[in-house]
Amino acid sequence: MRLLFLGPPGAGKGTQAQGVAERLQVAHVSTGDMFRALDPSTDLGRRVTAVMEAGEYVADAIVIEMLEARLAVPDAARGFILDGFPRTLPQAHALEAFLGEAGLDRVVLFEVDEDELVDRMMARGRADDTADTIRTRLQVYRDQTEPLIDFYRSILAPVEAVGGIDEVTERVLEVLEPVAR
Ligand code: AMP
Repeated sequence: MRLLFLGPPGAGKGTQAQGVAERLQVAHVSTGDMFRALDPSTDLGRRVTAVMEAGEYVADAIVIEMLEARLAVPDAARGFILDGFPRTLPQAHALEAFLGEAGLDRVVLFEVDEDELVDRMMARGRADDTADTIRTRLQVYRDQTEPLIDFYRSILAPVEAVGGIDEVTERVLEVLEPVAR
């Protein structure tokens, strides 16, 4: 099963992707986690960290190269949940070319209202979660990532991402039922 978890920063995609990937026995592929794991003493690590801390997006070419290398690892062959990639239309096109005809099975869209998102990001206190970068990240999401909702319209499964973690997981599994075998 090939899934994408899509939604604004702070919507809980990462937590849900981790849990659901375990339940379905597929790989959890998070570009954000991959970037955070880069060695900060390398040139690439320094550049990526600066971009993340500003709340901007890492350049498509870098993200795409990293993601394709990750999907080539054998554990991804039995399925995966993409968490945080693609985030731009060029990334979505690159993914489509990479996956070929079979493509993605479902795109789960995490829906949360904006005030709730800001509260959640302020509360988790990550290095890239300051008031200014939160505003920037939401704006960048609206400009660059929201167009993907339309791009994936035919396989989109919206989920109300409010409430307890388990409650949201149940909703996600429910919308995946037609494809989760
Ligand atoms: P996340 O953990 O998914 O919120 O990602 C944290 C940060 O990593 C983002 O705010 C971006 O700066 C960067 N990042 C992660 N995935 C991507 C992507 N697909 N395209 C561009 N930047 C990304």
